[in-house]
Amino acid sequence: MPVTSICSVKRGTVPPATERRRHVSDRTPGTVAPMAIRHDSGIVLRSYAFGEADRIVVLLSPHNGKLRTVAKGVRKTKSRFGGRLEPFTEVGLVLYEGRNLDIVTQVEVRSAFPGLRRSLDGLHAASTMAEVVDGVAQEEESSVALFDLFRSGLASLDAGRPPIEVLTAFLLQALGVQGLAPSLRMCASCGTSDHLDRFSVASGGIVCGDCRPEGSVRLRQGLVPLLAGLADADLATIDPVDSDLIRDAMWLTRRFVEFHLDRRLLSLVVGES
Ligand SMILES: [Zn+2]
Repeated sequence: MPVTSICSVKRGTVPPATERRRHVSDRTPGTVAPMAIRHDSGIVLRSYAFGEADRIVVLLSPHNGKLRTVAKGVRKTKSRFGGRLEPFTEVGLVLYEGRNLDIVTQVEVRSAFPGLRRSLDGLHAASTMAEVVDGVAQEEESSVALFDLFRSGLASLDAGRPPIEVLTAFLLQALGVQGLAPSLRMCASCGTSDHLDRFSVASGGIVCGDCRPEGSVRLRQGLVPLLAGLADADLATIDPVDSDLIRDAMWLTRRFVEFHLDRRLLSLVVGES
């Protein structure tokens, strides 16, 4: 996003949440408002340079959705927030409410998920999760289910669970949070639970041999139960599965996400071979 457009994403255009603006209503008419301070928390999705010395840090907050904040002076004095605002870090924040963007004044790390940073596949999986979260989260909108899923995914990668399996399950479950879950236990076209051996992205999931919509692909033995299992799996206990099966599951899930969220997953390189 071009820097010039950042300030146009102004919270004032959206009815503010009571929690966010409670200080404003305390103001005595005719006096200069003190700078309001508020507490929030979130997981860092990404950050980028802003002006000469600042960074915009984008986070997902469980109760306030996508937050765009400014970390001032971080590019001049690198040690001010250290690595506390790196992507995939869960933080508690103290913020000044600025005119356009809230300003970060204090950061407390709740979890840095260091284990996921030890492998390239872990980092790529986390990047794809963050990209999807960034794409679907809205500003000033409670995102508890999405936040919990994102945190579970990062914790699972941090604990050394297999990145492709974790990411595939995360993507299927993120679709569910968005109300876009693929049909994985019955034909998406006719509803039968027999002869489910094909997948159609456009039809919305698994389809039967009788329906076979145009563009559907035949599935390898074992793929249907794998997809259904991953969509319901506890991310904390995901184990590795057959490499051909998980590669197919990732491939189908990726196409489904890209089709139904209408976006390319630019960070997704794990399992692509
Ligand atoms: Zn059918």
